[in-house]
Amino acid sequence: MPNLVETAAPAIGALLPELEALYKDLHQHPELSMQEFRTAALVAQRMEKLGYEVSSEVGVTGVVALLRNGEGPVVMLRADMDALPMAEATGLPYASTVTAEDEEGVQVGVAHSCGHDLHVTWLLGVAQLMAAHRDAWSGTLLAVFQPGEEVGRGARSMMDDGMIERFPKPDVILGQHVMVGPAGTVGYRSGTILSAGDSLKVKLFGRGSHGSQPQTSIDPVIMAASTTLRLQTIVSREISPRESAVLTVGSLQAGTKENIIPDDATLKLNMRTFDDDVREYMLGAIRRICCAECAASNAPREPEFTTLSSYPLTVNDDATTARLRKAFEAWFGARAYETQPAAASEDFSVFGREWGVPYAFWFVGGTDPEIYAQAEAAKKLNEIPSNHSPKFAPVLDPTLRTGLEAMLCAAAAWLGHESEAA
Ligand SMILES: [Zn+2]
Ligand SMILES: [Zn+2]
Repeated sequence: MPNLVETAAPAIGALLPELEALYKDLHQHPELSMQEFRTAALVAQRMEKLGYEVSSEVGVTGVVALLRNGEGPVVMLRADMDALPMAEATGLPYASTVTAEDEEGVQVGVAHSCGHDLHVTWLLGVAQLMAAHRDAWSGTLLAVFQPGEEVGRGARSMMDDGMIERFPKPDVILGQHVMVGPAGTVGYRSGTILSAGDSLKVKLFGRGSHGSQPQTSIDPVIMAASTTLRLQTIVSREISPRESAVLTVGSLQAGTKENIIPDDATLKLNMRTFDDDVREYMLGAIRRICCAECAASNAPREPEFTTLSSYPLTVNDDATTARLRKAFEAWFGARAYETQPAAASEDFSVFGREWGVPYAFWFVGGTDPEIYAQAEAAKKLNEIPSNHSPKFAPVLDPTLRTGLEAMLCAAAAWLGHESEAA
């Protein structure tokens, strides 16, 4: 019986020119979160042509494509499709010049600065390889193209749209992300690989007045300043040095003019944690400090908390990772390595958590290996433009190929005749 990786991987070379053109097209047509209409239509059309059963508009713009190929496990492969509200500054010939209206009606630049265009291309390519080599595997492939990862809503909106009732339950859920790292490498990890991320808006209420009459005011600027400083004591004074966490107040807004004391102030903060208990603790501490600072200022009412986004921890299943590791090591040799957890967050794990299915997520390096080696030698790795930088620009050769190979190896570890399950 044919071995899936050995028969399909040699076909990648012939596919690359077409996939590279597809990638550049997606890159030049980025779409904001939950507005991925063009991308979704392109995906649906291609998957239909390949013979998949396609369901569109799952959770607004999500696309689910199913290929049933006999007895065997159900494997879900996931790619996210959205771009970021920022102007691209890579100077690439295929850089985005797109602008669009965000959810607040503001005109913004749009760019694939997180590399989700690569994720879509990888999954389309692997779907094509799997369709062309049906004799080398058996089971069911569930390809999921997800909207709105950057706003933490896409996976949830797909699950809320009846994923569990509408599609076969996967035996495993697999996903990958392009990251800073030598191109050609694949980083896997058992256990926590990505932090949880929580973003909150906190509105603090004071009482406005003339700037010359502070005694008639309750000054929300002082309240916000002192809250911001005190919030920094959560990580430095309340969390054990053995744990790690981040709390950033990234936005602080109050007032319009130097001689007016405003009515209120608004903080926007972002938190990253690597443990569910630490996360719960910090959310409580944020509330406690905000409320206590308002009380200390004699605020007329309690602060108002709004969740802007909430990403759960990504905790890779041990047995799933062990199987992946074997598959990656067999194909990539020393180019597969065990990575450290990243202080970045994803809503990928929502599928596995809600469905009760083991999952694993891994990284594919996208940095020119020479540039990476030079930066590493000069201890300047932090100067390489990372995901969400306007200069983030994965090198296509060999990143495009590596992501295809990694996802193919992963799918084969469950579906291929060579897999442990077969
Ligand atoms: Zn991102
Ligand atoms: Zn991303």
